[in-house]
Amino acid sequence: VERWVKTGASSSLSGRRSRDTGPEVRLRKALHRLGLRFRLHRRIAGTRLTVDIVLARHRLAVFVDGDYWHGTCPEHPRTPTRGPNRDAWEAKFARIAANDQRAADLLAAEGYRVLRFRECQVDRDPEAIAGYIQHEVSLAH
Ligand SMILES: [Zn+2]
Repeated sequence: VERWVKTGASSSLSGRRSRDTGPEVRLRKALHRLGLRFRLHRRIAGTRLTVDIVLARHRLAVFVDGDYWHGTCPEHPRTPTRGPNRDAWEAKFARIAANDQRAADLLAAEGYRVLRFRECQVDRDPEAIAGYIQHEVSLAH
């Protein structure tokens, strides 16, 4: 576990949500409108890893990644970390990336297909993302 030093930045950073974000909620509503049924924040057995949206019948696992935490968005790169907590942030981000990979491997081993979207993609057009998921569902049968 990372070691943290208290700084003025910590209060604003701790306000960043990683679940039930606006885009995630809008995506769920769009999926509902398409008649798709799913479960939220399901834990992968034997781990502390969770899946944002699980369509168990269709063996589909959906992640909505926040740009900040996952750092995978080419349009919204993470601002470089600095200051006394730099190492702790870097360790945290590395752990998130490792967990993403581990979750994908475990889900694949259980026969799940994994879809990852970025929060900003979902925010731009939740209906389109829901439509894409519906299309994936149709391919599963
Ligand atoms: Zn982005």
